[in-house]
Amino acid sequence: MLNVAKFGGTSVADYDAMVRCANIIKSQPETKLVAVSASSGVTNHLVTLSQQILSVEEQTQIIEQIRKIQYNITQHLTVETELNLIIDQVLTSLIELTTQQNTLQTAKTADAILACGEQMSSQIFAQVLKTVGLNCLCFDVRNVMKTNSLYGKAVVDIEQLASNCASQLSPLLQEHVVVTQGFIGRDGLDNTTTLGRGGSDYSAALLAEAVNATGLSIWTDVVGIFTTDPRIASSARAIPEISFGEAAEMATFGAKILHPATLIPAMRSDIPVFVGSSREPEAGGTQIRQEVASKPTYRSIAIRKEQTLVTVKSPAMLHASGFLVQVFSILAKHELSVDLITTSEISVALTFDNPTGSTQALITQAVVEELEQLCEVTVEHGLSLVAVVGNNLHASIGLGSDIFDNISDVHIRMICHGASANNLCFLVNEKDGNKVVETLHDKLFV
Ligand code: ADP
Ligand code: ASP
Ligand code: MG
Repeated sequence: MLNVAKFGGTSVADYDAMVRCANIIKSQPETKLVAVSASSGVTNHLVTLSQQILSVEEQTQIIEQIRKIQYNITQHLTVETELNLIIDQVLTSLIELTTQQNTLQTAKTADAILACGEQMSSQIFAQVLKTVGLNCLCFDVRNVMKTNSLYGKAVVDIEQLASNCASQLSPLLQEHVVVTQGFIGRDGLDNTTTLGRGGSDYSAALLAEAVNATGLSIWTDVVGIFTTDPRIASSARAIPEISFGEAAEMATFGAKILHPATLIPAMRSDIPVFVGSSREPEAGGTQIRQEVASKPTYRSIAIRKEQTLVTVKSPAMLHASGFLVQVFSILAKHELSVDLITTSEISVALTFDNPTGSTQALITQAVVEELEQLCEVTVEHGLSLVAVVGNNLHASIGLGSDIFDNISDVHIRMICHGASANNLCFLVNEKDGNKVVETLHDKLFV
């Protein structure tokens, strides 16, 4: 039995939270590998620093706030002085990075900046594990997590990860609990990369696969995956058991609880995943696995905000072939990932995720201009994607009255249904998003 555990930002936010997590690990001897996020709030500060919008004074203020978050934890430890030296080293490199930024290096430098949070939290957490009596060491994940150079959304080399883990990481797990960083990797040029916001879940799943773990536990601030985001609908309740397919749809369509790619390695290698709260480990959580006992038509509702809808229209598309190939090759060239698509005879509507604070590629003027060589292009912002997740939805009847009749006063901008058995998605104006989720949740689940 070998379990990999991941602790998110709130779980390593302060000393008390870290001690709670340490006790969870201590109570589970099979948990040998632990991936951590940055302490809560740190990555958001780092994103602000990476955006090159601050005066030197503002930069200094933010760096001091980060130092305070970390020092507030280290002050409880006997190794405070040594840890503060490590934190100071990371922050000194951060100061250098924020002052050396130039436009050519932005994406690369942004990743080096964003990676500082996990470097600090992992070092501190390893020391907290020692205080509860665990034989623990901190391992730099960048030695094994090799990626390409797509800064902000780097792609991991899975085979290299497996062989690096076999030679460098797995032997350490025999004798130690190893703490490492989520979210970060290193490319072939020896530069630090990141896997996208919320990427620690994905790191942990990749590591679980690479060390042949028998389980993955994602410890966060809620007691499992809920029927919808509990911050949006207070009537949301935890789901005891959910299939990989359903949970993957939820993650993809914005249920922030899991990074969208988390379940890919878990499904590929059939590793059951547990999601629970590090604040209330005794409260149970959600088990995500291949086969589940119940398969309800409606399982949950997810929402993803800050969506962009691009509509391309060309009369030349009428009875023509090859138009879509041209559109998609432009998008691929700009490394843009399309989420939803609807088509009519002469137009295609495509949605893209454009979250604030992301360092990923956006629909730039260059993309629009290139598409305009082919067709008319309209870009709309301020939309939310609502996904109703469940089972056999493509073959179910009554979706119209169950879903759309209940939100008949809302402007629905686009609907995608039929491709997946596990979801029905639609776009609404951002101002209506939360209300739609609340209303539908109360109709479908309460
Ligand atoms: P972590 O820092 O541990 O990775 P996140 O903030 O990324 O935590 O994810 C946990 C949050 O996800 C919860 O606090 C909750 O608000 C949100 N969330 C969104 N959808 C769901 C859902 N369906 N079930 C549970 N939590 C959800
Ligand atoms: N610290 C990173 C973020 O906030 C990664 C993570 O927490 O999963 O996006
Ligand atoms: Mg998260």
